[in-house]
Amino acid sequence: MLEKVHVGAASIDAYEGSAGADAVTELRTLAAPLRGIRVLHVNATPYGGGVAEMLFSEIPLLRDLGLAADWRIIRGDVEFFNVTKRMHNGLQGARRDLTTDEQNVYLENSKRIARLFDEDYDLVVVHDPQPLALLHLHGKGKARWIWRCHIDTSQPNDQVWNFLKPFLSGYDAAVFTLDSFEPPDLPVPHVEAIPPAIDPESPKNIDLDPNLARRLLRWVGVELDRPLVTQISRFDPWKDPLGVIAAFRLVQRQFPEVQLALVGSMALDDPEAWEMYRQIQDASRATPGIQVFTNLTGVGNVEVNAFQRLSNVVIQKSLREGFGLVVAETLWKGTPVVAGRAGGIPLQLQDDVGGFLVESVEACAERTAWLLEHPQEARAIGERGRDIVHQRFLLPRLIADDLRLYRTLLKP
Ligand code: UDP
Repeated sequence: MLEKVHVGAASIDAYEGSAGADAVTELRTLAAPLRGIRVLHVNATPYGGGVAEMLFSEIPLLRDLGLAADWRIIRGDVEFFNVTKRMHNGLQGARRDLTTDEQNVYLENSKRIARLFDEDYDLVVVHDPQPLALLHLHGKGKARWIWRCHIDTSQPNDQVWNFLKPFLSGYDAAVFTLDSFEPPDLPVPHVEAIPPAIDPESPKNIDLDPNLARRLLRWVGVELDRPLVTQISRFDPWKDPLGVIAAFRLVQRQFPEVQLALVGSMALDDPEAWEMYRQIQDASRATPGIQVFTNLTGVGNVEVNAFQRLSNVVIQKSLREGFGLVVAETLWKGTPVVAGRAGGIPLQLQDDVGGFLVESVEACAERTAWLLEHPQEARAIGERGRDIVHQRFLLPRLIADDLRLYRTLLKP
């Protein structure tokens, strides 16, 4: 059996305040014909990263709406996840091909995983490339299968994509964050673009009393009388933490007292994070004012909430990005974001609305310094970003899109 992830309970009614009564009513209407439908979401890690973040919130709400929803994860050793991280990088355009040995590691592990999958579902939603081969190796059964790809696959490495593509035949639908992420010659009959969303009721995003937020950050070592700039991301080269450090050094010339928090999480399926962590430690040692925090040293959801609330500026200097949930999370708190013009980020913010989009270390430093210099404008820009999130990137909208897709696929 694939390992089940246990999640809490939630009621969709709790979202009337943040998303509106109409959104909740719409969800109940959409879900009514799906009552009792067995839906399985499969991914590779129960924590760390945007997919786990969303499933932890979505599964309880699907259950509350009457669906029999489960979340299961695949397990693998470091070798397997090293290979799948290379696939992830290749799908985002990294030049490195997969060696024959790496392809075999993927195949052998996928066969082992497929043997563990012995449950019956009406719908199976497979997230990202790690569990992708499950359908092919297990067989489709009576279920409808969806591949939900969260990364920017618009210009994949050909060799990596050609290796993975055959595993997609048999899928009934594929879902990307943007239309433009659809990779070439996708062998799937139904394709949709559905952007992710944040959960306004989760500990990461609920209102936090400012005094409590300050206590939390003081506790982990932030100096509250100094300006604070933060990036919250897995330690991943595409998130460009070294570029953030370089930009921070430029900001420091103008604001010597500014401090940088790099908050990163270690996901089970991301062994590359440790190497990146070492590089970040090396790069930051020479620069005073940088602190590195992780989920392993006590910076969890509520602390991230406090960082997103109390930072003067949040940076998300991604070079490639599926969506970047952290952007929406930060904007929801009215804090301005300086972010890489990459993937799904421009869906969430434009210049002056939520923050600024940048394409270089220098631009990142310049916009960050400008926001530090203009706190009133910075607040107004952040607030405009909050409106966008309110309109488009809250969880009830995502669930409505998902339910519509389920209904389409389950039509007799
Ligand atoms: N995150 C976290 N702690 C960290 C770093 C990240 O809780 O130290 C969360 C972050 O708040 C967000 C998710 O991990 O909810 C990252 O999602 P995103 O879409 O930004 O990037 P991904 O990791 O999926 O590429």
